[in-house]
Order: sequence, then structure tokens, then C-alpha cells
Amino acid sequence: WSVDTIVVVTGSNRGIGFEIARQLAVHGLTVILTSRDNTIGEDTAKVLQEDGFNVVFHQLDITNPSSIRTFSIWIREYYGGFDILVNNAGINFNLGPDNSVEKAETVISTNYYGTKNMIKAMISLMRPSVAGARIINVTSRLGRLNGRRNRIGDLTLREKLADVGTLTEEFIDDVASMFLKHVEEGTWLSGGWPQTFTDYSVSKLAVNAYTRLLAKTLSDRPEGQKIFVNCFCPGWVKTAMTGWAGNISAELGADTGVWLALLPDQAISGKFFAERREISF
Ligand code: NDP
Repeated sequence: WSVDTIVVVTGSNRGIGFEIARQLAVHGLTVILTSRDNTIGEDTAKVLQEDGFNVVFHQLDITNPSSIRTFSIWIREYYGGFDILVNNAGINFNLGPDNSVEKAETVISTNYYGTKNMIKAMISLMRPSVAGARIINVTSRLGRLNGRRNRIGDLTLREKLADVGTLTEEFIDDVASMFLKHVEEGTWLSGGWPQTFTDYSVSKLAVNAYTRLLAKTLSDRPEGQKIFVNCFCPGWVKTAMTGWAGNISAELGADTGVWLALLPDQAISGKFFAERREISF
């Protein structure tokens, strides 16, 4: 890895995203630090630039197609493409008592559709390399299919989501739509959805499923044009998202993502990690 390796980190103006950006910059990579707010992003990038790191800011809102398009055009024009995409941007409202339909829609459209749209727009910009380009999705154990707690109650639904042989993007979208319909109807509690951080868990479950599906789709790319895609759970991290109530620092929360980005000759794809170890979906 060198300054010629370019990594894009979404939502890197704070929290775990900032730490992933900072640590990869410390390792000598060129980091594209992105933020939906221009001033905040520029100021954050400046902090790392002043420490001598190769960090460049560009605006990016993963829920805004025109922002994604502008970003794609810019990165193609200035760098011709890039090597590593870290989909970190995410949102969660469940700290308070208000679980409105609107909030559930925002969570699903940011965490799942935003991440997916970002990946779709970026794939053609990912540069072929011997080590393979990488996509790393920051998800959560809360989105596990077969976790002992907080899983989808419907076994058939779980089995369908688990079977990557028959899984389709439409099916994952349908699951997200079905969930939002239940939220709208007020039946989500009895509908068998995860009981804790429900909308957030469903959004991360959808990204986990999409990670496995994408890995399968990308697996037939020829040698030298491989793109490996994995996801990881950072743990329960002291950031704004948890109201600073986590049990580890953002620095530690970023660790598995940085490790996945830097793994030499990584031919691993479609897997889920935590604390640098593979865990089950
Ligand atoms: P923060 O709330 O501190 O940071 C979230 C980041 O995402 C911010 O930079 C935020 O930007 C950005 N973001 C939100 N929406 C968008 C958008 N539409 N477009 C671009 N950027 C956006 O949270 P964390 O650092 O804790 O979370 C980072 C990731 O880690 C998330 O995906 C989260 O789900 C995941 N995670 C976190 C855990 C934790 O314990 N903290 C546990 C498991 C997973 P802005 O500043 O503009 O709001």
C-alpha cells in the first residue's frame, strides 16, 4: 500500500468513519474524506492535512443521487478511479422514544439504499489491481440473521435471506419494503421483526445480505479485475450514534475495517467480521 492507493470513506467527518480515514492515512494511503456538509468536511480534512497526511475532501451525501454523480465525475477526472471503498455512512434514531414512519424510512433509505446506490455508482471506478479492489461495508451484529437475540422471527424469511444461491436483490428490496409497510400499518412489533433497534437492525441485515449477494455476483470477474466485498461490525462504540455510551473508542471500532482494507492479497469475499475474526451472518 502506498500513496497511490486511493481509499474513499463515506461519512468520514466524524466517529468511526473519521477514524478509518485517519488510520488509513497514517498507513500512507491517499484518503478521500467525504461528508455531506462541505464546511465540516473541509475542516475535518484540514486537521489530517496539517498532520502531513494525504487527505482530500469531497462532498458526498449517499442518499442524494446528484451528489453521488458529482462525486463519481470528480474522482474519475482527478484520479481515474480508486481502490478501496469503505461504506461507513449510517444513521440511527433509536436512542429516543419516537419511532416514526419517517424515521424508519430514513434509516432504510440511508443505511441500505444509500450504501447500495453508492456501490453501484462506484464499481466501474474501482481500479484493477493484483491485490484486488475492496469494498468494506460497516454493518452491525444487530443485523445478524441467526443471532440468538434480535433476529427476524419468520424462519422461512431467514432461510431465504441466508441462501445466497437463490437470493436476489429484488428479494432484499422486498424485505425492506415489507418491513416499512408493517411500520406504516403499525404492525411491525407483531410482524416478527427484530425487537431491538428495529429499523436499524433491518437496514443492516439488508446490507449484510447484499454484501453476500454482491460477492457472489463479483466472483466471476477475471483475475486482475477482482473486487472483494466484506462487512464488519465495529462493536459498541462511543460515538454520537450511541450517545457516547459504547464500551470501546472509535479508534478501536475502526480497527477491523482498517485491517480488512490492508490485508495483503485478500481473496476473501462475502464474509462478515468482528474483532478481526470471521463471524456468522
Ligand atoms: P456517527 O453518527 O458518529 O457518524 C455517522 C456518519 O455517517 C457521520 O459522518 C454522518 O454525517 C454520516 N452520514 C449519515 N447520513 C449520511 C448520508 N446520507 N450521506 C453521507 N454521510 C452520512 O456514527 P458512527 O461513527 O458510530 O457510525 C459509523 C458506522 O458504524 C455506521 O454505519 C453505523 O451504523 C456503524 N455502527 C456503529 C456502531 C456504534 O456502536 N457506534 C455499532 C455498529 C455499527 P453527518 O455528520 O453529516 O451526520
